[in-house]
Amino acid sequence: MRSIFIFLLVFTTATYAQKSKRTDKSMQGDLQKYIGYLADDRLEGRRTGTNGEKLAYTFIADQFRNIGLIPKGDSSYFQSFEVFDGKQIFNSTHFIINGNDLALQKDFFPMIYSANASVEAVPTIAFNEKGMPWFLDIKTLIDDNKTNPHFDLTESIKIKATDAASKGATAFIIYNSSGISDELKFEGKQKAEQLTIPVVYVTKEGMQAYLNDASASVDMKLKVAIGEKKRYGHNVAGYIDNGAAYTIIIGAHYDHLGYGEDHNSLWTGPPSIHNGADDNASGTAAVIELAKLLKQQGLKRNNYLFICFSGEELGLFGSKYFTEHPTIDLSKADYMINMDMIGRFNDSTKAITLGGYGTSPAWGQLISSKEKDFTIKFDSSGTGPSDHTSFYRKDIPVLFFFTGIHKDYHKPSDDVDKINFPGEVMIIKYIYGLIMETGNSEKLAFAKTREQSTGGMARFTVSLGIMPDYTFNGNGVRVDGISEGKLAQRIGLKPGDIVTEMGAYKFSDVTSYMDVLAKFKKGDATKIKVLRGKEELTFDIIF
Ligand SMILES: [Zn+2]
Repeated sequence: MRSIFIFLLVFTTATYAQKSKRTDKSMQGDLQKYIGYLADDRLEGRRTGTNGEKLAYTFIADQFRNIGLIPKGDSSYFQSFEVFDGKQIFNSTHFIINGNDLALQKDFFPMIYSANASVEAVPTIAFNEKGMPWFLDIKTLIDDNKTNPHFDLTESIKIKATDAASKGATAFIIYNSSGISDELKFEGKQKAEQLTIPVVYVTKEGMQAYLNDASASVDMKLKVAIGEKKRYGHNVAGYIDNGAAYTIIIGAHYDHLGYGEDHNSLWTGPPSIHNGADDNASGTAAVIELAKLLKQQGLKRNNYLFICFSGEELGLFGSKYFTEHPTIDLSKADYMINMDMIGRFNDSTKAITLGGYGTSPAWGQLISSKEKDFTIKFDSSGTGPSDHTSFYRKDIPVLFFFTGIHKDYHKPSDDVDKINFPGEVMIIKYIYGLIMETGNSEKLAFAKTREQSTGGMARFTVSLGIMPDYTFNGNGVRVDGISEGKLAQRIGLKPGDIVTEMGAYKFSDVTSYMDVLAKFKKGDATKIKVLRGKEELTFDIIF
């Protein structure tokens, strides 16, 4: 079977070469144009929900229109979706003390777990009376815990506020008269349940101006209004309808990290534009180029859906939304090809990675590991840190093309001048050949594969090899156990250690630790910070 298929592939590739009016040079010119535009500073890193994203999706839709694709979004070529972006403080929030309107952020701010409420009262700062707002100077709390590495100030204040509410306080106002900086801020990204009373922090500046006499009574009017902050991402979808039974989906994400505002950058310098030429202007350009090829060559065996996703870098938001709200009948989807970072073909190793190999028995017959110009490293899993995962979850066979991780990954230096254009042309032609080979009256068979990691946590390609202590409620992840022979054991982590940071990311609990872990791929080098007793240790690791 295998040799027949290889023969067919060679045969059709030759046919394609004859029929194609377009040379490698003209394809390369297209890619230079697409990636050059998408990875330009003008697009400011194509962060989901920004003007840069808009410039990108407008550009992609323009290309789809020029090629002659049918719009396949919810509205023209576009499908918009919501991204939860944490919480924000609304402008109606105010704090007036003795007729002075305190400035939000500069003089005061609510804590993330504050209730939304209005309180008007004339309390005495020094007294804790039932039915009145209470005040707390956190100086003692800080002094008492100066040497306690497990101390979590935000959490301690929350406990005190909960206690105050249960004793009849109507609001909880905190300030810090000590010389030690507490670094408290409104942490919009934290997932916190709201308490029953408003909790407000008055800054040093606010305290000195308006709360300088603890024995005094103050006439206060407080209102806290906190709510969800939302952003909208936009998928772009175009279609070639050949009236065929099944549809092949060709996709890539086009969003990237912006200036690194979402804390998914590995850059530790000042905020800078992350152009994302490889990640993933390269894949986006390939979607456009394949659309052009398939339209021009008039391939008719299938229908073809071309889709560029947003929100990928935030957690596959766009592809998840599409598979939940598809604009085509997904039961008629033959398979999905995802291209994420295909612009760094290595001319010396000549290897590319192909994920999803195990998602259909057909792949084993169609694809050989040794091609004329490159070799293929197979990853059988249908899941991974990119958009094909969303389609695999719907029992659709997938393939995931990837030229590998590099030192510019998720850094501002992922620029267009580092793209290997002839390498990308070669990959696109290979994918085109594969599309020519597949698709007929029969749908590709689907097969389930192993998950990328244990416990159904499909988004991880890497692990540290620790068992977290789920009962620990301080900041970070406390190590409960160490897996035999894994990374954590090799670098000498011990039970009781608290992992607090990985690369540029801090995490507060096991959930946020998992989110951070999902951002790394095999081979990534980074640092972790660990608290061992009072000592803070840093380890260099390579996944
Ligand atoms: Zn990325």
